[in-house]
Amino acid sequence: ENTNFAVRVAPLSSYGQVLVLAEDQTERRRVEAVRRDFVANVSHELKTPVGALSLLAETVQDAADDPEAVTRFAGRMQHEAARLTYLVQDLITLSRIQGAEAIPTPEQVSIDEAVQVAIDYCKTRAGAKDITLVTGGTEGLRIWGDDDLLITALRNLIDNAIVYSPEHTRVVISARPAGGSVEVSVSDQGIGIPEESQERIFERFFRVDAARSRATGGTGLGLAIVKHVAAAHAGDVTVWSKEGSGSTFTLRLPAFGGKALAAPPSIPLE
Ligand code: ADP
Repeated sequence: ENTNFAVRVAPLSSYGQVLVLAEDQTERRRVEAVRRDFVANVSHELKTPVGALSLLAETVQDAADDPEAVTRFAGRMQHEAARLTYLVQDLITLSRIQGAEAIPTPEQVSIDEAVQVAIDYCKTRAGAKDITLVTGGTEGLRIWGDDDLLITALRNLIDNAIVYSPEHTRVVISARPAGGSVEVSVSDQGIGIPEESQERIFERFFRVDAARSRATGGTGLGLAIVKHVAAAHAGDVTVWSKEGSGSTFTLRLPAFGGKALAAPPSIPLE
């Protein structure tokens, strides 16, 4: 008996002919298991801040005559509410790009501009740790894709580079043409990723150190979003990392070749 196969028998004719269908269930089972895990993970991730919030609300009630304690607990409530917001935002982003297999209306996107916008979003966080953001080689490079999605991916990569690096280090964002593609890399001098985890970090909710990720406001969805942004562009994302030395994430995206613009307008035949 092979449990990976579902056998269906359907009568074909009144002469007793039957159609026997053996369907491979392995992939369907795997997809179902992944979906179940995801729903369980989402529920767990949502429950944690909601539980903390209700506990904190109770504590605030009990501490009504201690204004200092009320301020302290209110601050923690804000922190938990922010965490909930990030999680919901990331879930929405992820479900949007997961649903779209390709970008509906691709346009030419300037790497230089996208990198600048992404850096602007991450500046405050970098400044708080005295991390210098350096760019190189981005000028004049263009890809064929979606600027919002590219900015989202870059923000996630730069944000991670900052979060998982010690103070007073550098994060380098560089780009270069590579055949018909453009490669954009984000390199840090941070804690690095153990080799056995490098393949798994792009999975939804996978974290090398869950406590650390949560403490820094991580949702565990950032790299899954990056992976889907790359896939939607028919590109990919890879990681090089050495524990204790740092990590480099490289996005490979289709270069804007001008071909789409050079195509002659289609002339109706009739
Ligand atoms: P998170 O919200 O936890 O950062 P991500 O999906 O962005 O979620 O990343 C998944 C995990 O990969 C992180 O929890 C962390 O363990 C690891 N990681 C991601 N980027 C880096 C980096 N630049 N340096 C070291 N570890 C990283």
